[in-house]
Amino acid sequence: MALTFSYPDLSGHPAYDNHEKILCAEDLDIGFKAYIALHNTRLGPARGGCRYWANYENDNDAIGDVLRLSKGMTFKNALAGLNYGGGKTVIVGTKGTKNPDPAFMEALGHALNELGGAYETGEDVGTRTEDFRIAGHVTDYVRVKSLEKAGAKDLAGGPPLYTAFGVYYGIKAAVKFKFGQDTLQDIRFAVKGLGNVAAPLCKLLYADGAMLTVCDIDPSKTKMAQELWGAKVVSPDEIIAQAVDVYVPCALGGDIHPASLPLIKAKVIAGAANNQLASPDMALALKERGIVYAPDYAINAGGVINVVEIGASHEDLIRKVQNIGTTLMEIFERAEREDKTTAEIADIIALERIF
Ligand code: NAD
Repeated sequence: MALTFSYPDLSGHPAYDNHEKILCAEDLDIGFKAYIALHNTRLGPARGGCRYWANYENDNDAIGDVLRLSKGMTFKNALAGLNYGGGKTVIVGTKGTKNPDPAFMEALGHALNELGGAYETGEDVGTRTEDFRIAGHVTDYVRVKSLEKAGAKDLAGGPPLYTAFGVYYGIKAAVKFKFGQDTLQDIRFAVKGLGNVAAPLCKLLYADGAMLTVCDIDPSKTKMAQELWGAKVVSPDEIIAQAVDVYVPCALGGDIHPASLPLIKAKVIAGAANNQLASPDMALALKERGIVYAPDYAINAGGVINVVEIGASHEDLIRKVQNIGTTLMEIFERAEREDKTTAEIADIIALERIF
């Protein structure tokens, strides 16, 4: 087998940020290349998904992606109170494919063994549970094997359901902070995207008395929202400008940018989408407009809590996910006290926990 491992020196890379270890695994015979980045393991072994992506322009793109994502996992795990570090894998995909070849997953399994348990991985963009079953033929360091060993199964709903609960508790904290209200009675929400996270989230919001305006590019989903929760439906272009109290981005990232900022009428932004701010300076722009922003990686951590808490019951998971609301309240109050953005305070709290 021509599988080789190397530890490239990436200290000059702009996204390096003192990564502990970066492994490059390569098998030229089968066209396999993967980067595994371990950012920081002070709190415990690293956790973070494995992405398969065939559209990297070049190696540097893949490296930038894996470094940024693994650092993000360090902060997300720390802020969620998990005793795990941050890591991530990127498999450089074969052009025109969406999922990895089985031989790639076996090669990845050997690469995970090379790290000796410092990192365990699982599903992310482009990878499925069945892919990790293949890796699991040669390694123990995939989540599906940990579940098997613990005699546990994925609870119905899985990560998106717990992400939804986390966003719900985060929204409750933000509403309490901004409007002084304990329930969501008559609070107006604009929800962008009605996918695996937003559907259970809307159900929770509605049950708490919320009034919903929604959009999705899939008309069957907006129809469902109309029927189940009496939601008003608008187009994706209009959603961010709705006269509502809370904007809930649950589609893709990058909604908050200089052109969309003046349109926002909501006083709270709290949703599941990753990378909601198109650039970091948007955090200050929101603060200056008096808009309370729930940092994305703080509010959407319910899924990762579900992923790492192997074998936890639904009740245990809900208890842990409820802490997202407590953490967000701490972030909002401290940001106000220290005259900083909520994004800055989230990073500070994560770093305080790690060091
Ligand atoms: P999903 O793919 O199930 O849902 C996304 C929904 O957004 C779909 O219904 C899609 O039709 C809709 N959509 C896409 N583009 C749109 C647009 N321009 N306007 C309106 N609607 C649009 O994804 P999900 O699992 O529900 O995740 C939603 C977001 O939350 C993503 O940004 C994801 O990265 C993030 N997130 C998800 C989890 C999780 O556990 N699934 C965890 C953390 C973060």
